[in-house]
Amino acid sequence: MTEHDVDPVDLLLESARDEAVESSFHVTGVMMQYYEVCERELWFESRDIEIDRENPNVVRGTHVDETAYDEKRRNLSIDGRIAPDLLDDGRVVEVKPSSTLVEPARLQLLYYLWYLDRVVGVEKEGVLAHPTERKRESVELTEETAQQVEDAIRGIYDVVRSETPPPATEKPFCESCAYYDFCWSC
Ligand code: SF4
Repeated sequence: MTEHDVDPVDLLLESARDEAVESSFHVTGVMMQYYEVCERELWFESRDIEIDRENPNVVRGTHVDETAYDEKRRNLSIDGRIAPDLLDDGRVVEVKPSSTLVEPARLQLLYYLWYLDRVVGVEKEGVLAHPTERKRESVELTEETAQQVEDAIRGIYDVVRSETPPPATEKPFCESCAYYDFCWSC
């Protein structure tokens, strides 16, 4: 049986739980965000295509993450694969970068909860923080949201294993995307 015959979710879980299982398929929290934002962007990222990291638009997701939330939180790196932020009360926090990027942040947070539960064996609650609106939203891993995460893992697998990128389709954030020129310059 080859790697391609295995359900990507099982592949990811086996290699995450057992170092002896070699697999080139890994999913980071940021990949979850890309998958939700734009599959084509995920494909470019997966190929390490160089982009201008000084461009403020490129860091649209991480800039807010580092500066817009002043409560104490600790970053936890697990197996070098996921790096959730924990609040003092133990909940996993993800910061919503902007009103157009709520769902990507939610999916990343759910992936962290899923990974902690399925790989580490620790059940955690999540909180999606909306710093500009001074609001917080509880996020939980349920049967339904775990299914959402697993569907995304399978979708990510298909995207990153594809020989060619998905076609460009116009999105509200294309103009602030690092790969804009790749998609829309003739
Ligand atoms: S410019 Fe638009 S279509 Fe192209 S990768 Fe970025 S978000 Fe996706």
